[in-house]
Order: sequence, then structure tokens, then C-alpha cells
Amino acid sequence: MDFRPTDEQALLRRTVREFAETEIRPHVREWDEAQHFPIELVPKLAALGLMGIQFDERHGGAGMSAVDYCICIEEVARVDPGVALSLAAHNGLCAAHINFFGSEAQKQTYLAPLARGEKVGAWGLTESTSGSDAAGMRTAAVRQGACCVLNGAKTFITHGRVGNVMVVMAVTDRSLGTKGISAFIVEHGTPGMSAGKKEDKLGMRASDTSEVLFENCRIPADRLLGAEGQGFVNTMQVLDAGRIGIAALSVGLAQGAYEAALAYSRERKAFGKTISSFQAIQWKLADSATRIEAARLLTYRAAYLKDRGERTTLESAMAKLYASEIAVRMADDCVQIHGGYGFVKDYPAEKYFRDVKLLTIGEGTSEIQRLVIARRVLART
Ligand SMILES: Cc1cc2nc3c(=O)[nH]c(=O)nc-3n(C[C@H](O)[C@H](O)[C@H](O)COP(=O)(O)OP(=O)(O)OC[C@H]3O[C@@H](n4cnc5c(N)ncnc54)[C@H](O)[C@@H]3O)c2cc1C
Repeated sequence: MDFRPTDEQALLRRTVREFAETEIRPHVREWDEAQHFPIELVPKLAALGLMGIQFDERHGGAGMSAVDYCICIEEVARVDPGVALSLAAHNGLCAAHINFFGSEAQKQTYLAPLARGEKVGAWGLTESTSGSDAAGMRTAAVRQGACCVLNGAKTFITHGRVGNVMVVMAVTDRSLGTKGISAFIVEHGTPGMSAGKKEDKLGMRASDTSEVLFENCRIPADRLLGAEGQGFVNTMQVLDAGRIGIAALSVGLAQGAYEAALAYSRERKAFGKTISSFQAIQWKLADSATRIEAARLLTYRAAYLKDRGERTTLESAMAKLYASEIAVRMADDCVQIHGGYGFVKDYPAEKYFRDVKLLTIGEGTSEIQRLVIARRVLART
């Protein structure tokens, strides 16, 4: 067992951190206020390999490991969790689904431009009446000759408006339950597909979120992604990997909030002393530093197992659950340590506080992670 990053990983962290500090930090507030998805940043993200972090170089990717992926997401999230969420949805959901289950032709046609950052990816599972209970989806795909016709609506889709390529889950045979759900690749601009309402969000506002509607949307039958009827099972596998990314995002956000709180506690004076000299503040910092390290280790363990090709359902759920919940606590402590200044936009604390709540909801709520963990724990002999 070796807990140290390799020299290459240390360099990767420094490189992504420097990029986030220079290219993202100056715009964080502006993008948040305008609810602007920074499409102009995509070529720069791509130049660093961040649009195709874990994919093969022959598919346009940077060929990095799952642990490297965590480092990248963490460092972007430390500065702007909204941009990190976009990276996680693009890499960890849309492109990953095509990478795991696409044919070679689909990888060349769709994965490679996504990985090179020429296109932005979206992934549609959730609907207005089915989130946690994803198998209750209503969107349907009906075969008509050489085409499939999609009808339905997806809700809360990251890059629903700005994405070029979307992986969509739809019912192909309702009588088969979860075995009657299939995945399809749909290109934005296909007649019958349109972006619906853009969500006005509490946080993560630099990440585009909207409805996506399908009305008699005809796509060639060869856009089926993976085997027919395997869409739901494959989705669970995509989420096992995706949740490691959300765990890394949580660690990065918590790290950013912790650093902001630490720096402020060293400057702010009360009763003639810096507030960092008060034991009440020191304990908050000590507990925070400890929790962040524990979350990071759980996250890297899940990533390490994924790199070894092992199934990580349990480890991913544990990492996602713990990291997102300690991040919520860290963002709360960050506001508390800032006092009144934590409540205004001149300091980063209030934004971390707004952004963080998505992390216990997206890619499976905390309740669903506990359900996954409990099932696995109870199945042990
Ligand atoms: C900003 C943002 C971006 C998103 N991006 C995407 C995306 O790109 N693609 C996509 O497909 N989806 C996306 N989502 C959707 C997200 O994954 C869902 O919101 C999430 O899975 C929860 O589903 P829901 O909102 O329908 O809540 P519900 O499932 O209705 O849950 C409501 C509450 O009930 C609880 N609950 C539900 N079932 C159980 C149970 N069995 N036991 C205990 N408690 C339960 C939940 O934990 C929650 O507290 C995004 C959401 C947001 C807010």
C-alpha cells in the first residue's frame, strides 16, 4: 500500500490548480451571477486534457487513470464547483457511457469529439416524475423500420441546452421493467429534440441545467448504445464510476471552503486576537481537516479499485455519501467562521454554501447511497 501520489500526479495537481487559479478564479462570481456556462473555457479545458480525462488517446482522450481524474475534478472544484460539475457530467456520465458500452464506430464518431472538447456531452436519465426511482421513466423509444422514435421529457439535464451529444435512457419494452430500458445517442439539432426550461438554480449556476424534450424525434436505429434492454443495468455501472467523480468534487469543494475559512481565521480579529487563537475555531478547523482527509482517502480508494478493474458499487457509494455530507458541513462551518461576512457575496463562503447542496442530491441522493450501502452490507455473509 502506498498513499503517496506519483511525481506525475503531483505535477498534474499543480498544473490543474494553476489553471483553475488563472483561468477560472477571476470569473467565478460573474459566471455565478449571470448563470453563465463558460463555453469559451472549453477549448482551454480541452488543451489540458480535461474534456477527455480517462479515455484512450486513440479516442481523443488524455489516457489518465481514475485517481488522476479525481485530482483534476478536485482541483477545479476547489475554485469553482459549477465548472467541476460540468466536467463531471461531460466526462463521467455522457462520454463514460459511450466509452463503456459504445461500439468502436460510436466511439470514433461521438466519443472522440467529446474527448477532444469539440463537443459537449449531456446524459439524460431523470424525468419530472422519476429521479431516485429512475426505472419509473416514461420516455419511450419505438422502433419504426430503420429508425427509433423517441417521445418524452428529461428533467434537470446538465448541458441540456449547450450540449451537442446526449445519451438518453428510454423504455423500449415496458413489460420487461428494468430490462426494458435502453440507451440511445442523440445529437442536438435532431428534429423533434429541443431544450426546455433553463433551471434558475440555488448553486452550481455556471453549470447549464435544463429540461430536454422529445416529440416524435426520429433517430437511426444504430444510435442504440449497448445492447437493447441493457440501458438500466449499464446506467448503474456508469453511476458507480460517476459517483467517484462527485465524491472528488465534494473533496475539492470542501478543500476550497476549508482554505477560505483558515485564511480568514488568521486575519479576523476579535477581542484583541485573531479568531484562529480561539479554541472553538481551532476545533472546527481540526475536525474539518480530518474529515476532508478521510473523504479524500475513501474517494481515492474507490478510484484505485476502479483502475484495477474491480466493481466499486459499495466503495463509490461510501465515498460519495461521506464526501458530500462532510462538504455540506465544511461549507456551513466556512460561513460560520466568516460570521456576517460569510453571508455576503464579497467572500467565497456563501457560494460554497449554495453550491454544496447539489452534492447530496445529484447522481443519487444521500438516502439512495445509504440504501445501496445497506444492501451490500446486509448481503455479506
Ligand atoms: C443541478 C442538477 C444537475 C443534474 N444533472 C443531471 C443530469 O445531467 N442527468 C440526469 O439524468 N439527472 C440529473 N440531475 C437529477 C438528479 O440526479 C436527481 O435530482 C436526483 O437523482 C434525485 O431525484 P429527484 O430530484 O427526482 O428526487 P426524488 O427521487 O423525488 O427524491 C426526493 C426525496 O425522497 C428521497 N427518496 C426517494 N426514494 C427514496 C427511498 N427509496 N428511500 C429513502 N428516500 C428516498 C430522496 O432521497 C429525496 O430526499 C441533476 C439534478 C440537479 C439538481
